[in-house]
Amino acid sequence: MPYLTQLADVARRTGFPVTEVAGWQTRGHGPQPQVQGIVCHHTAGPAGGGDYPSLAVVRDGRPGLDGPLSQFGLGRSGHIYVIAAGRCWHNAPSTSTMHTNSASLGIEAENDGTQPWPDVQKDAYIRLCAELCREFGLPASRVKAHREVNTSKPDPHSIDMNDFRAAVAALIQGAPAPEPSWTEEIVNQLPMIRPGDDNFDVKTVRGCLFARGRVPASAYAQVGLEDWLKSTRCDPGLVELVRGFQQAEGIGADGVVGPKTWPSLLRV
Ligand SMILES: [Zn+2]
Repeated sequence: MPYLTQLADVARRTGFPVTEVAGWQTRGHGPQPQVQGIVCHHTAGPAGGGDYPSLAVVRDGRPGLDGPLSQFGLGRSGHIYVIAAGRCWHNAPSTSTMHTNSASLGIEAENDGTQPWPDVQKDAYIRLCAELCREFGLPASRVKAHREVNTSKPDPHSIDMNDFRAAVAALIQGAPAPEPSWTEEIVNQLPMIRPGDDNFDVKTVRGCLFARGRVPASAYAQVGLEDWLKSTRCDPGLVELVRGFQQAEGIGADGVVGPKTWPSLLRV
């Protein structure tokens, strides 16, 4: 198995914010040989100090143990830090062959070892484990607390791992479809924008394309950016930009902004 450069995408599927820590894609004690399990930790870091004060330790290590110590960090706010794509020193010696450093991924969640877990952090923890199980084809039973696979460790403190795994299993199986959010409802009400249309929603298309970096300066060189953004006409130049955006997003490049293109443009 190579360096696991898909880990940031897997983390993003949780819906929680993700930071790719510089250099993560080539960081590791060699590549990760296999993924048979997931080990949950707490950092035993400081009680305060912001969202993820243990980042430097997990990335770089501590005296006597070189970093990286874990592929993932998890902040108090549920923010996920992708730290390494290779093997990490997070569990040795392991009592489980499927949870050794060479066989498992580690998640180091910020907690001093006694303080209560914020709900949002626990929710992100469960979701990250579920997405990792999905990615690597693992059952929820392969998610273990460090204390379950290493007799000398206490972490992560106070989390009932049977409840935790049940929540992971429910997510893997697929929770019932949520009610459409208000953003989805708004998107569903947006009109189709076709070549030649002239209405105010065309301005939204222009603004979104510009915000996504899909409008080269040459497109508005003649009229200036402000007038270009204000134009309500779906002219041939705009249609071309829409096509380019659709192509890049892997949706049908028909130049019409409809139910597939709107959510991509609005990132919802
Ligand atoms: Zn641990």
